[in-house]
Amino acid sequence: MTEILTGGCQCGGVRYEVSAEKPYRTHVCHCTDCRKQSGSAFSVTWIIPKDSFRLTQGALKVFTSEAQSGRAKRGAFCPDCGSRIYNEIDLRPGLLSIKPGTLDDASGLAPTRHVWVQSKLPWVDIPEGAEVFERGVEKAASARSPA
Ligand SMILES: [Zn+2]
Ligand SMILES: [Zn+2]
Repeated sequence: MTEILTGGCQCGGVRYEVSAEKPYRTHVCHCTDCRKQSGSAFSVTWIIPKDSFRLTQGALKVFTSEAQSGRAKRGAFCPDCGSRIYNEIDLRPGLLSIKPGTLDDASGLAPTRHVWVQSKLPWVDIPEGAEVFERGVEKAASARSPA
């Protein structure tokens, strides 16, 4: 079943909707780039098909940088308040990484995976039962159980 989730930036100028299929798959990324981007200890990412995203109000500005994986990453944000709405990574063509903190209701998007744990801050605890990856998910061979 498809549900419509709505969201927007901090100033309200940008609004969007996502038509999403459950289960929602979200993960926490502890890479240094996500820390800079979010201004916090980590970022939360929700990967969706690009064509399920629709901008309903305002316009986005795009910033291009290099992800810790070495791949190009384009971040779309509100030009007025700077809220990051999504990232687009060369690694995942056709997909967007939505920032769930911009959703009106992100209560159903509890992350089950933690990636780039090798650069995690020491005071961040990983919940028991989470899937843990030293680096990106594509390096699944390095997966281990949380300590
Ligand atoms: Zn804004
Ligand atoms: Zn990251």
